[in-house]
Amino acid sequence: MHEDIDHVVLSEEEIQERIAELGSEISANYGDEPVLLIAVLRGAAIFIADLARQMTCPVEFDFMAVSSYGSSTRSSGVVRILKDLDETIEERHVLVVEDILDTGLTLKYLLKNLATRKPKSLEVVTLLSKHGKQRVPITCKYVGFEIPDEFVVGYGLDFAERYRNLPYIGVLKPEIYTD
Ligand code: 5GP
Repeated sequence: MHEDIDHVVLSEEEIQERIAELGSEISANYGDEPVLLIAVLRGAAIFIADLARQMTCPVEFDFMAVSSYGSSTRSSGVVRILKDLDETIEERHVLVVEDILDTGLTLKYLLKNLATRKPKSLEVVTLLSKHGKQRVPITCKYVGFEIPDEFVVGYGLDFAERYRNLPYIGVLKPEIYTD
């Protein structure tokens, strides 16, 4: 385990096992229809790579980058698109791939924006959802894990751009925030 990690919330094995289940469930729902996976950078980059490799339906990728104003550990709900999609989504099945659903404010903004572009379908898969934290109702068709309300890092999630490469998800030692 990395020396800055206080405890592991989800092990590499638990994450990979759940992603395989999600991949089968999602593929079964789309059948032979192509689906456009849209990952929200940067956190979801690792999840989209692993999820796509567990899917059997035809898959295409696109990426968006958004920034939420405010402190690094709290969501403000004000979202700015830093990088938009490269392609049109009109009449296509779209599956937004998110790393973590916290207050839901980022996703709410994003879904509202994408819905105006008239996709054939629009669903969300999130690897993590913070239990009881959603401030706005979001219909997330696929949820990997419900986790307690703690700030987590690893498997794509950062603190000050670090720890994204950890293969597991964990909580940092308190002194890492204060140093
Ligand atoms: P929301 O708008 O749902 O409150 O926040 C969504 C975004 O906040 C996530 O995509 C992620 O970038 C960031 N975030 C929320 N909770 C955590 C967390 O526990 N750890 C990390 N590293 N980022 C988080």
